[in-house]
Amino acid sequence: LPETAPTALDVLHSVFGFESFRGEQQAIVDQVIAGGDAVVLMPTGGGKSLCYQVPSLVRDGTGIVISPLIALMQDQVDALLAVGVRAAFLNSTQDAVERDRVERAYLAGELDLLYVAPERLSSESTKRFLANGKIALFAIDEAHCVSQWGHDFRPDYLALGELVERWPNVPRIALTATATDATHREITDRLHLGNAAHFVASFDRPNIQYRIVPKNEPRKQLVEFLTKEGAGQAGIVYALSRNTVEKTAAHLQANGINALPYHAGLDASLRQRTQSRFLREDGIVIVATIAFGMGIDKPDVRFVAHIDLPKSVEGYYQETGRAGRDGEPSVAWLTYGLQDVVQQRRMIDESPGDLPHRRRMSAHLDAMLALCETVECRRTNLLSYFGQPSEPCGNCDTCLDPPEVWDGTVPAQKLLST
Ligand code: ADP
Ligand code: MG
Ligand code: ZN
Repeated sequence: LPETAPTALDVLHSVFGFESFRGEQQAIVDQVIAGGDAVVLMPTGGGKSLCYQVPSLVRDGTGIVISPLIALMQDQVDALLAVGVRAAFLNSTQDAVERDRVERAYLAGELDLLYVAPERLSSESTKRFLANGKIALFAIDEAHCVSQWGHDFRPDYLALGELVERWPNVPRIALTATATDATHREITDRLHLGNAAHFVASFDRPNIQYRIVPKNEPRKQLVEFLTKEGAGQAGIVYALSRNTVEKTAAHLQANGINALPYHAGLDASLRQRTQSRFLREDGIVIVATIAFGMGIDKPDVRFVAHIDLPKSVEGYYQETGRAGRDGEPSVAWLTYGLQDVVQQRRMIDESPGDLPHRRRMSAHLDAMLALCETVECRRTNLLSYFGQPSEPCGNCDTCLDPPEVWDGTVPAQKLLST
C-alpha cells in the first residue's frame, strides 16, 4: 500500500507534541504545503519556526532553511533531532568529513530539514549540489536582513531572490519579526515574492510593560530598577558600546547582581559559555551589545533594559521582544537623555554611508525619539509605527502615570532641533 503523507495536524501532534496551531500558523502551513509562497510577519515568540518545519515534514523532500546566525543553527538542529526530526546544517564551522556526511544524507533523501548559511546559497556549487536532491521548500528566516536600508542588512540575502529562477516550482516562505511597511515591501520585491500570500500577525505583546525614563545616573538607575523589580530574575541589559557593556557588567557585579558581559569582542568560546549559562541557569543578567539575542529562545526573560537609546524602533521592538516569550508579565525598561541624541546624531553625521543612507538612519532615530517623547500610550505609539492601530493599553508608564503635556513638549522641541 502506498504511504499517505501525514497531515499538518498529525505532524504538530505526533512530532512536536502541541495541541493546536496558534494564530495564523495553520493558514500559513496550508499555503506552503499546497505549494504556494508566503511572506510571514510575526513577532518574536509568535511561532515562526513551525510555519516551515511542519510543511517540510509533510511535503516530499527536504526543507532548506536559510538562517543568518551560524551559532544558532546548532541549537535549532539539536532541538529538532531531540524530537526525532532528521535535521542537519551546512556552515563554515564544519570540517570536510562532517560536511560530506550531511551532503550525502541530503542526496540520499534522508533529511527533513537542512539549515544553510546565506553565503553558501550565493555559490553556484552549492546550488548545483542542492539541485541533485529533492527540495520541499525554501524558508528564508530573518528575512528583514534583505532590506538594504534596514537595521540588520546582510548582503548575502540579496542573492536569495534568484532562487525562484532555478526552482520555480518550489514554494518559498520568508519570515521576519520586523513589521514596517517599508521592510515588508522590500522583502516582497527583493526576494521576488510577488505571488506570495501575506500573513501579518498582530505585533502587540500585551504582557510586556513599556517604560521609558529620563537618564540621570544610568548605572545607579539600572541597579535600582534591577534590585527593586528584577531581583533574581533573568534579563538582558543592552548598551551600544563594548566599553559600556564591560563597565556596566562590572558595576552590576559590584552591586551583587549576577551579571555577565557579552559582545562581539569577546572570545567565541566565552560567548558560547555565557549564552548557555543564560539559557540553563536561573536569574542571570546579560549585559550586551545587540550582538546578543537574535534567535535565543529563552521563555522566562523577565526584563529587557536599555541604558543607551536604540538606533531604531525596529531594533527596540526586537530587543524588548526577547522578554516574556512565556506570556508572563515582563518589563521593557529604557533610560535615555539628551546626550544619547547628541551622540547618535554625531554617529550618523560621521557614518560612511551616502546621503540617502544618513537620511534613513536619521529617520530611524526620529521615530525612536518620538516613542521616547510621546505623552500618549507607548504601546499605541509602537504599534502605530508598525501600521497597527490600537487603544491605550493601561499598562505602560504613560498610561499609568500620564505626563503633563506642557512639561514634555519643550524638551522634545529642544531635542528635535539639535
Ligand atoms: P519565533 O521564531 O516566531 O520567534 P519560535 O518559532 O521560536 O518563535 O517559537 C516560540 C516558542 O513558541 C517556541 O518555544 C515554540 O515551541 C512555541 N510554539 C510555537 N508554536 C506553538 C504552538 N502551536 N503550540 C505551542 N507552542 C508553540
Ligand atoms: Mg525564529
Ligand atoms: Zn499604554
